[in-house]
Amino acid sequence: MTRQRSQDLYGNSVEPPTYQSASYYFDDAEHVRAGLHERSAAAGRYGRYSNPTWLGVEEQLTELNEAQASLLFASGMAAHTTAFLALLRSGDHVVLAAESYRQVRNVFHEILTKFGIIVHEISIRDPDAFCEGVRALRDQVRLVHLEMPSSPHMYLIDVERVREILGPDVIVTLDSSFSPPPNFHALRWGVDLSLFSATKYLGGHGDIVAGVMSGRADLIEQIRWYRDTTGPVADGHVAALLRRSLYTLPLRMDRVNGQAMAVAEHLDAHPAVSRVYYTGLPSHPHYKLAQQYLTGHGGVVTFELDRTEAETAEVVDRLRLPFMASNFGAPQTLVEQSTFFTYFEYDDAKLRTIGVSRGTIRLALGYTDDVSDVIEDLDNALA
Ligand code: PLP
Repeated sequence: MTRQRSQDLYGNSVEPPTYQSASYYFDDAEHVRAGLHERSAAAGRYGRYSNPTWLGVEEQLTELNEAQASLLFASGMAAHTTAFLALLRSGDHVVLAAESYRQVRNVFHEILTKFGIIVHEISIRDPDAFCEGVRALRDQVRLVHLEMPSSPHMYLIDVERVREILGPDVIVTLDSSFSPPPNFHALRWGVDLSLFSATKYLGGHGDIVAGVMSGRADLIEQIRWYRDTTGPVADGHVAALLRRSLYTLPLRMDRVNGQAMAVAEHLDAHPAVSRVYYTGLPSHPHYKLAQQYLTGHGGVVTFELDRTEAETAEVVDRLRLPFMASNFGAPQTLVEQSTFFTYFEYDDAKLRTIGVSRGTIRLALGYTDDVSDVIEDLDNALA
């Protein structure tokens, strides 16, 4: 095939083009010197190191998160794993919020421990006890990883107090995939790196798997080397889909905040429902923290039935509108029975440690036109 150089026919499209290229050419030796050796001219080199479409979306993310810099990854797990591999050394102690996402906990317990990292897991259910646990370890700990809201109970953390206790030298990372801006801005509260599964609200259409981190430029530069070397990168098409999605993030969050609040209030008053976990309800154990940290409460409503796992499964089976699927932040409403889905491998003892009952249902509202349809569907299933 003959060599066909880029044709710059016209460059005035309102939206930037999507770059889908494995490598980038240099015109001549002088261009290699300027673009690669001296970095005095902007030039691409190879698709694992950068791509103009990523760079654009990373700029959007930096602005959204009020950060110094951002990085895009192939998945939320890739963002988490790469950050921890880059920032931790053998012998380091870390604190892990015990209600963090299951696979993030697996990275800490099953992978990082193989490299001599010592993991201290502390429950966030009691915010004061969590802070005291952090205080007891603050002189030996290098990094604290938080997640809020947590799944399925949407527990929160007094992030500002955690930072005060730790002082400036301990790295604080926080996963707020359930509550991205505008609902919550982690970096405003002393967090160093804000992490997201962009598969969820940031992507927002249920059609990409991607991960994102935003925060301190010095940490991002360390992590960039690990990403570029180990290669968990998103491709140009995924970056373009994420760019498009970020334009509508505030609109979508506004929609699900309102709809989930209506569903949560309805379930809270429903005689067949024993408990609702939604941070917008005064009955949520961390409602006070929610008032301080969140401007909206997101689209995920968790509720408990005083029924067995099999009886709860019958209720979920009777639902007609939601897809039975494990995700949130998608256009469709999704439902999962926690112990039958995410935690199906957990026995009773392990379920007790995370406080999840067999009657727990997690409902993730999509961008429905009329939330009364969802409420009617729930009423029929619960009848
Ligand atoms: N963090 C949270 C809170 C999640 O729920 C998930 C996935 O469900 C992840 C991280 C991992 O993200 P991904 O699935 O994009 O790898």
